[in-house]
Amino acid sequence: MDHIQLICDIGELNAVFTDAQSIESFLQKIVEMVAKHMNAAVCSIYLYEEDKKELTLRATYGLNKEFIGKIHLKLGEGLTGLALKEQRPITERIAKEHPNFKYFPGTTEEKYDAFLAVPILRALLKVGVLVIQRPKSRYFREKDIVILRAVASQLANMIENARLFMTMKINNSSEKKTTRQLKMQKGKVASEGYAYGPSRTIDRERIFESFRNRQFKGNYTINNFQDAIKTTVRQLEDLQARVEEKLSDVASLIFTAHLLLLKDKEFVGSMIRKIEEGIPPPEAVIMVAQHYIEIFSQSQNAYIKEKVQDIEDLSIRLLSNLVKEFKDQCVCENHIVIARELFPSDILKLSSENVLGIVLVTGGVTSHLSILARSLKIPILIVDSQKVLSISDETPVLLDAEVGNFLINPSQTIINNFNQRNESRRKFKSKSFQARSQTCTKDGIRIKMMASINLLSDLKLANDVQSEGIGLYRTEFPFLIRSDFPSEEEQYAVYRQLVEGMPNKEITFRTLDIGGDKILSYYNSAKEQNPFLGMRSIRFSLSNKELFIQQIRAMLRAGTGAKIKIMFPMISSLEEFLEAKMTVLECISQLKEKKIAHNSTPQIGIMIEVPSTILIMDELAAEADFFSIGTNDLVQYLLAVDRTNEKVAEYYVPHHPSVFRTIKNVVDIAKLNGKSISICGDMAHNELYLPFFIGVGVKELSLEASFIPKIQDAISQIDSVKAALLVSELIKADKSSEVLKILK
Ligand code: PEP
Ligand code: MG
Repeated sequence: MDHIQLICDIGELNAVFTDAQSIESFLQKIVEMVAKHMNAAVCSIYLYEEDKKELTLRATYGLNKEFIGKIHLKLGEGLTGLALKEQRPITERIAKEHPNFKYFPGTTEEKYDAFLAVPILRALLKVGVLVIQRPKSRYFREKDIVILRAVASQLANMIENARLFMTMKINNSSEKKTTRQLKMQKGKVASEGYAYGPSRTIDRERIFESFRNRQFKGNYTINNFQDAIKTTVRQLEDLQARVEEKLSDVASLIFTAHLLLLKDKEFVGSMIRKIEEGIPPPEAVIMVAQHYIEIFSQSQNAYIKEKVQDIEDLSIRLLSNLVKEFKDQCVCENHIVIARELFPSDILKLSSENVLGIVLVTGGVTSHLSILARSLKIPILIVDSQKVLSISDETPVLLDAEVGNFLINPSQTIINNFNQRNESRRKFKSKSFQARSQTCTKDGIRIKMMASINLLSDLKLANDVQSEGIGLYRTEFPFLIRSDFPSEEEQYAVYRQLVEGMPNKEITFRTLDIGGDKILSYYNSAKEQNPFLGMRSIRFSLSNKELFIQQIRAMLRAGTGAKIKIMFPMISSLEEFLEAKMTVLECISQLKEKKIAHNSTPQIGIMIEVPSTILIMDELAAEADFFSIGTNDLVQYLLAVDRTNEKVAEYYVPHHPSVFRTIKNVVDIAKLNGKSISICGDMAHNELYLPFFIGVGVKELSLEASFIPKIQDAISQIDSVKAALLVSELIKADKSSEVLKILK
């Protein structure tokens, strides 16, 4: 098991390098660690530079360190270059006898006969070569090759970063700079992707404030003002049309409040009156906006309060269309947005404006904002540093939301590196993952692959990857960005599109999971101290029965002729579930009585997310048709750690022994009671946890469609019997680090 320890140790090294300065020591630590574990006299890392088609020695343990940065090998040159060119390990008993051997006098290499070089590859990308050497007769064996290959693949990602920073450092030192500027930040990937473009920091208050304190140059007339209004209306209508085209389910009304304000006699009328009194138009806009902001911010009503944001947004837009020097101040199109905090409605607006990516200072990777961003295919990185907010607008930035880096003002070499890497990743992805209609483990156990859907626009991909149905439809997103609750008819229209979009397949509707980090601006609830422990989810539905009934009726009607399941989130007691179930049964009777077409036999199930359900599983199983484990919340509630708070992210540990034991427990009881059980939180798309899920006997997963091919591939390599044996080890582990070690 020694090599597992080595791989774990290397994994932990990732934390060592945080900036370009620490790279050398990072690489140095790796070579020392590998040499020690592999019992080698020498360990060296060579990194590959694609543009020069050349390897360079970057770290060594055992050879003369003066050669670091000075030994260069072309692709195919020497045994090291050969390993990379042919993309295979090369091992020699007496290296110097090989015709390809290349000797550099002074390195002391002549002392070591036994040689093993393993290429470091990421997807199709050549990253470098890891070489180990030993003195005479201590030859490398097959086992060593296996271990070094595992190490190289673990290192690939990290080294790829290291290589990048190396370039940064080289470029930095060649620039004569007096001030230390922000060059790079590490962050957590919340929504995968990559983007390069100019930055735009969103801080409405700050922008509005800066407008207020400005002296306006130039003379503006009432005609300029009227033109600015027309341009603004046109822009907003255009944006609205774009969202409608892209996101029919959530499109309604996201820019309506702005448009209504622009047509409002009081709002625009007051501006016109002020202009007619002789106040310059930009100042008139600011004065009126300011007046409304003051009134609205004093309101107790959250809905009215949110209008402050609309007024700020709108006046910034209006001013940027009026005052020449403000032009494009609010344009996020083709920009990478940096923000302290965003609401789901902001994400939708930004998506309609085609932002390239987002960097957030607060948030969590399993937060609903991140989940929504993944559906919208907007890369998001969460960085725990306020510094990024001070990056000036239009600074070129590179967002690597795959590895987790945010680079400010990157050099052309870095950009080229990224483009090359992306290109090879793209090729690799399209090559290696073939969607399949059925998923089986290596020994033939069928695992049902269901798609989790957040927006109707996810349906296409869910069908493309041949998912077997919808295991989780989060119904709340259409609720989030409206200015009022959608009616039963509106909901019916959305749900019906879902049912028709996935014909003859099972569809699991989850009832409204509002609250927590999903706040309805139009619902006048008191601000809560602990929203995740407050009026969230099924609690909201049961205390707003009318709305709950409308939603269930819409689901039942939309499910006519289809196979549907209705699932309640955040159930914490039997009473709660029985009341919710009763509501569904009552809705069925009502619809029957009124002779309205509907589905009268939905399966009714429970999400396991709140720890209290674990101890009443038997009783719940007697009443429910099925279960689904929502690991995002289960981890949050079991470990008492806010899933949206980056500050405590290190405590959010899905591989905590109590999470694993809980999941096993819950699956065992469901199976004993003959009830189906699936996993629908983000743990389902992490390959690391798959052997555990399969080992405990989970037969159904629900995950975002983009992850399905990768997970199918991973499942096909798992043997369920071996996985079950692994579970017995995992369950005994008493520390998270222990669990991780076993999994790896
Ligand atoms: C979960 O909690 O794991 C889950 C699937 O629901 P959500 O992420 O929407 O809270
Ligand atoms: Mg949940």
